[in-house]
Amino acid sequence: MDFEFSPEEQAFLKEVEKFIADNYDPEVMDVTRENMSQLVDTPKRRALMKKIGEKGWLGMTWPKEYGGTGGEGVYEFLLNEKLASVGAPQIGKGVGIIGKTLIRHGSDKLKNEFLPKILKNEVEFAVGYSEPNAGSDAAAMALKAERDGNDWVLNGQKIFTTSAHFAEWYWVGARTDTTAPKHAGITLFLLPMNQQGLTIQRMPTIGDEITNQVFFDNVRVSDEYRVGELNKGFNYISEALDLERFTMFTFSPIEERVKLLVNYVKEEQRDGKPLKDDLIVRQKVATLATEIEVAKLLGYRVVSQAIKGGKPPTNEASEYKLFATELSKRVANETLNIEGEHGQTRVHTDDAPLKGRAELTYRYTVIDTLGGGASEIQKNIIARRKLGLPRNF
Ligand SMILES: Cc1cc2nc3c(=O)[nH]c(=O)nc-3n(C[C@H](O)[C@H](O)[C@H](O)COP(=O)(O)OP(=O)(O)OC[C@H]3O[C@@H](n4cnc5c(N)ncnc54)[C@H](O)[C@@H]3O)c2cc1C
Repeated sequence: MDFEFSPEEQAFLKEVEKFIADNYDPEVMDVTRENMSQLVDTPKRRALMKKIGEKGWLGMTWPKEYGGTGGEGVYEFLLNEKLASVGAPQIGKGVGIIGKTLIRHGSDKLKNEFLPKILKNEVEFAVGYSEPNAGSDAAAMALKAERDGNDWVLNGQKIFTTSAHFAEWYWVGARTDTTAPKHAGITLFLLPMNQQGLTIQRMPTIGDEITNQVFFDNVRVSDEYRVGELNKGFNYISEALDLERFTMFTFSPIEERVKLLVNYVKEEQRDGKPLKDDLIVRQKVATLATEIEVAKLLGYRVVSQAIKGGKPPTNEASEYKLFATELSKRVANETLNIEGEHGQTRVHTDDAPLKGRAELTYRYTVIDTLGGGASEIQKNIIARRKLGLPRNF
């Protein structure tokens, strides 16, 4: 058993570090956007992602016939963790969810239209699964798609569509068969975000970021923009969710926050006594530092399982997502506890401990244990698929 990265992988990490240093820009690499720094939502962030594309790093795991280099997922993992550690945008929906699903299941038309653009970072996507009555149970989605000649006509509503306010294309699941069991009546479509009949309404969140509600009023989409087979959409969504649980919840930012906290403990005093001498504080940071190692190893297991191929890393991804995101919240909580009342000082306030990162992380991590499947859902998956317990819902 070897937990070290190979010389090639370490050389790649060095190359990414150099790329980050050469392209450093505080507006693009902003750790105060916490987990949402992954979004490619401003012109400067897009420009950086384009450069990443020019390095050939967007297609590292795609097959050569689609413009990729057919490499192992570990390189994508290393790249994303490094980018996340400095608050830079990360490889996400385009390369992962949309690109990989199109490669496996898309028509030649969709592959030819979208894959080259994804590799050059010329297109941003929003992903629309959740609805007011379909969140954890995404298979309950009710957005209706009815066939009309060569088109489909979509009516209904999505909620929590992050990126809808800046993306060009919508990757959306809709109900195409109301009589089939709920998992078997969903189809995926791609439609332009500015399509007639689509209304986007912003929803500001506790983490200072924007998500959206999207309303569909007779929105037409040609059958050519149907992804894969009719009524197989939920299978494709499930496949891609394993990936999302892992790639969208990186551990390097959590590790960085623990390092900040340890430095704070080393340097600060409370009531005239160094924090580093406080037994309870020492116990707390030692526990968090150990838990970081656990999260890291759970992450490595997902990558290793994905590289081996065969069985998708469903259990591993759920275990990682559950542990890492709950840890992320514990780190935020303990940082506030250790900092005391000053920890509540707003981010970017000059004299706030850790420049206000504690209160910020506390707000931003609310999404971590909900998005990409809530903690309870990860536990359900582990109980059922790993432990063989019966379904409870
Ligand atoms: C900021 C933000 C961004 C998001 N971005 C996107 C996006 O881009 N695209 C998208 O499609 N969705 C997105 N989501 C939606 C997200 O995936 C859902 O919020 C999530 O799946 C939970 O669904 P829900 O909010 O409907 O909660 P519910 O499903 O109503 O759950 C409420 C609570 O009940 C618990 N619960 C539900 N079912 C069970 C069960 N069977 N067993 C035990 N406990 C259960 C849940 O864990 C949760 O604690 C986003 C959400 C947020 C907050």
